[in-house]
Amino acid sequence: MGRVNKGINCSIKGCTEQAERSMSESKGRMANDLDISSTSKRIYLCRNHYKEWKKATKEDRETERARWK
Ligand SMILES: [Zn+2]
Repeated sequence: MGRVNKGINCSIKGCTEQAERSMSESKGRMANDLDISSTSKRIYLCRNHYKEWKKATKEDRETERARWK
């Protein structure tokens, strides 16, 4: 996951905001609530959708962290 060059739009359907974050498609799809429209291996999220993604995947990531302890 990393910062995104300017000029890339958010990959969420109907969103026209500029993307701030990118991640692999499989990671992005961990958030079932987000309607991702992407045909590439990477998805791009604007600030708001990245927040939503974080919220939606919080449980999963905490489970993952616990597993690695
Ligand atoms: Zn967005």
